[in-house]
Amino acid sequence: RCIANQEAHHALNAFISRLQPAQELGAVKSAEERRTAGKSRSPIDGKLVAIKDNIVTTSYSNTCASGVLKGFRSPFNASVVERLKNAGAVIAGKTNLDEFGMGSHSINSSFGAVKSQYSRNGHELSAGGSSGGSAVAVATSQCYAALGTDTGGSVRLPASYTGTVGFKPSYGLISRWGVVAYANSLDTVGILARTTHSAKQIFDAVNHSDTADPTNLTLRTRSRIQKSAERENIKKKLRVGVPLEYNIEELSPSIRRAWVRTLEHLQSLGHSLHAVSLPATRHALSAYYVLAPAEVSSNLAKYDGVRYGAREPGDDNQEGVLFSATRGNGFGDEARRRILLGSYTLSAAAFDNYFIKAQKIRRLVQQDFDRVFALQNPLLTTDAQPPDSEAVDILICPTAPTIAPSISSLKAQSPVDNYMNDVFTVPASLAGLPAVSVPVHDNTESSSEPETVGIQIIGQYGDDNLVLRAASIIE
Ligand code: GLN
Repeated sequence: RCIANQEAHHALNAFISRLQPAQELGAVKSAEERRTAGKSRSPIDGKLVAIKDNIVTTSYSNTCASGVLKGFRSPFNASVVERLKNAGAVIAGKTNLDEFGMGSHSINSSFGAVKSQYSRNGHELSAGGSSGGSAVAVATSQCYAALGTDTGGSVRLPASYTGTVGFKPSYGLISRWGVVAYANSLDTVGILARTTHSAKQIFDAVNHSDTADPTNLTLRTRSRIQKSAERENIKKKLRVGVPLEYNIEELSPSIRRAWVRTLEHLQSLGHSLHAVSLPATRHALSAYYVLAPAEVSSNLAKYDGVRYGAREPGDDNQEGVLFSATRGNGFGDEARRRILLGSYTLSAAAFDNYFIKAQKIRRLVQQDFDRVFALQNPLLTTDAQPPDSEAVDILICPTAPTIAPSISSLKAQSPVDNYMNDVFTVPASLAGLPAVSVPVHDNTESSSEPETVGIQIIGQYGDDNLVLRAASIIE
């Protein structure tokens, strides 16, 4: 069925490379045989899983949707890909994205824009980004689930625009070995699926410690985190926090409606609602757009025409010619903008005013979250203040301020307007917290328009299972 859907939805441009149907069928059949013999490798044995094209595999090229990586193929598999294969999953192909993950609509791609399966009055809609290809592949059943990456919202935002579940686990839980770095201190592998149940299945397959990634949590830290989360969450009724700062003027009425309905639903099930304040949220977006480009300017320096992918003809003896020709032709506009921004904020003249200030804001954002969650942040080494009696288990807010815009309207937008989309997803990224976007029904009449809006659940660091449990209640 997935194979037929891949043909039917080819025009949405979700995939950059795909497995041959015959190979796909062969792999699925072998899994079927294992199942009948009672030898299934895992619940996802034989399931087609698509991989965002910034996570390396040996069987496909790895482009990151950038001209600069044209023709590049990795000599090894990312750890997450190995994990999925060991669990029996079939790697269905590599999905389209914003170049190196930079964008919110999957239109900054050298392979052309991804298109949502939805339209409005005949206008093509944004699939969200940067994991838009993975989201559309899942939404149109071209695969069972997909991996994306979420640096500042790139799994959650496309999930909200395409009516899928998008889960960003706590930073450091899933290995980044073989995940092409955009902004290392924020990059998180995330999961797109049609239900929280299938997202959890994929999460269980890839959530393992990995010494190849130095930021990946050790077994000892994992067991400490698990114990503290379990102790806290045995209780059945949740204390749900409603962050007041997320109720902004620009919020679309349909999104506010869905948010209120979700909260009412939870209350009707006996969970309690509590208004909370996260004052640093206001500055989170600006801090993110200083920190992420700073890391980009450093990470993208290695694409010089010598080590990876494309090489423009140029004289290597003449200093800088090969380098500038390769980079000048290889990078798209947004990548260049971020390299320039990052180089500026890291320069001696701007460093204190931008980079250091943004790091301070990042810390304030983390402290805001630590103040409202009942579960103490397990990464804090010093004893934090005991949580006050008003502390909550999870936070519930929208994933994005608006529903999916049309692709044509984006062309007229300034880069800063574009960045505004990430206002609700970036805070959890800066704090490294688990967050999931869940599709909640909206009562629209038109069938070609999205029928759902994305509602986001954010939890304390390491409380990933509770976040998924809460998601299954509201989905
Ligand atoms: N839209 C954000 C950015 O462009 C987030 C991207 C991401 O999470 N990879 O940086």
